[in-house]
Amino acid sequence: MEVASRKVAGIGMTSSRARERLIKRLVERGIEDKRVLDAVRHTPRHLFVDEALSHRVYEDVSLPIGFNQTISQPYMVARMTEILFAGGAMNNVLEVGTGSGYQTSVLARLVSKVYSVERIKPLQIRARKLLSQLKQSNITFKYSDGSMGWAANAPYDGILVAAAPEEIPAELVEQLKVGGRMVIPVGESHNQALHLVVRTESGFDDHTIEPVCFVPLISGGLQ
Ligand code: SAH
Repeated sequence: MEVASRKVAGIGMTSSRARERLIKRLVERGIEDKRVLDAVRHTPRHLFVDEALSHRVYEDVSLPIGFNQTISQPYMVARMTEILFAGGAMNNVLEVGTGSGYQTSVLARLVSKVYSVERIKPLQIRARKLLSQLKQSNITFKYSDGSMGWAANAPYDGILVAAAPEEIPAELVEQLKVGGRMVIPVGESHNQALHLVVRTESGFDDHTIEPVCFVPLISGGLQ
């Protein structure tokens, strides 16, 4: 998936109009944070999926990216990002589940440093290559099991998890700064909710936001 050749294919104008329609749709669905809307507006989602799916890429839907995984629905990317940043500016964010790199690209427009972890090697390689072609150099990737977080760069202002564990992983909470925020889907496949976890001096506050549907967070073992 070469960025240069996709541009030559003439997607440019069409996609900027389609992207504006997507932004309108996100506003209708309740996304208010202008920084988040701008970050989505400037993220070329058509480069993060196979060209065969280009015609649907600015619809507000999740789409397959191979390996039984999906690129997140733009509404969900915007919503999670908005909740993460609602507490104020952040310096460093850990993302668990790089996938296509789309959410990573949106985050990297809003924060100084993004650390992103993925357990499926070919997805990780593809995302890293694309984001370097897009010249987003404030991202560091790692091929590993993100359910254990990434302790070497902790503590984090924010953690965003793109796959659902059955319970909030203690290791991730421990890697937040006091006052740091984690947005994470929690629960079994048909009974999941998005949670906001805020680290406190003595533990954490847990807020349930809304029902969601994510792939499971897989612990132990890489692919
Ligand atoms: N926001 C991404 C969503 C990808 S789907 C996008 O828009 O493309 C969720 C991703 O989480 C998948 O790529 C899956 O492989 C990854 N994942 C699941 N369990 C994981 C784990 N324990 N560590 C790291 N990544 C994990």
